[in-house]
Amino acid sequence: MSKLGIYPTVEDGIVKLGLKVWDQTANLADLLECWQPLCDDESIFKTYGQDHHAACKGCPNNCCNTAYVIPDLISFKKMAANLHITESEFVQGWFQPDKLALGLLKIKSEPCIFLQEGICSIYPLRSLICRFYICTDLTPDTEQLIYSIAWSGAAATQIYARQQGYLPAPAPQGYTSFDRFFVELVETYQELPGVKAFFWADNYQDIPLHYFLPADCSLGRRAP
Ligand code: SF4
Ligand code: SF4
Repeated sequence: MSKLGIYPTVEDGIVKLGLKVWDQTANLADLLECWQPLCDDESIFKTYGQDHHAACKGCPNNCCNTAYVIPDLISFKKMAANLHITESEFVQGWFQPDKLALGLLKIKSEPCIFLQEGICSIYPLRSLICRFYICTDLTPDTEQLIYSIAWSGAAATQIYARQQGYLPAPAPQGYTSFDRFFVELVETYQELPGVKAFFWADNYQDIPLHYFLPADCSLGRRAP
């Protein structure tokens, strides 16, 4: 039996996707398994999709052309291993030099360095930011959960890269507003168990979802 589910709901006259978690032993891999079919689901309204109701594959407005990707730590390690290079070489060759100079990580973009002929060349290894992005409305609790997980993973990579010496010292004077947001987020998140979980996890099934579920959150109730 599934430990969680995604369902459509209407809020303020807008159809949104919501998530229900009814088994507190659910892990991140369970959520990703549940989330994955949304890309191909033609019944879902996609703001930037072809005719608003097409699969993401072949999308003319492919979000990979403009995505700002800071990989989560599990994805980061797997990408480097898949390329058969060291993590340091991965950082130097696949991340944007202007951000590296500021002590920050961002995969080379516009388009994403992994986009080849309109298709992600590392699809099974892509990061959480990529896996979770879908241009449709989500319920606030669901959006917050996805946000919390994806940014926890990205914060873990930033902390790890700094610890391993892959990044120079921060250079705040060159930060954009988004850079400042991310650095502050890393500082705020760094002691959270959800961020620490990325350090000892090898795979997404090693990360319990309950780290990211607020106690008062409606996500934890069984769907009616
Ligand atoms: S999520 Fe990205 S690929 Fe999918 S329809 Fe929206 S813009 Fe296109
Ligand atoms: S890693 Fe893959 S899914 Fe993510 S932005 Fe790049 S091409 Fe798109």
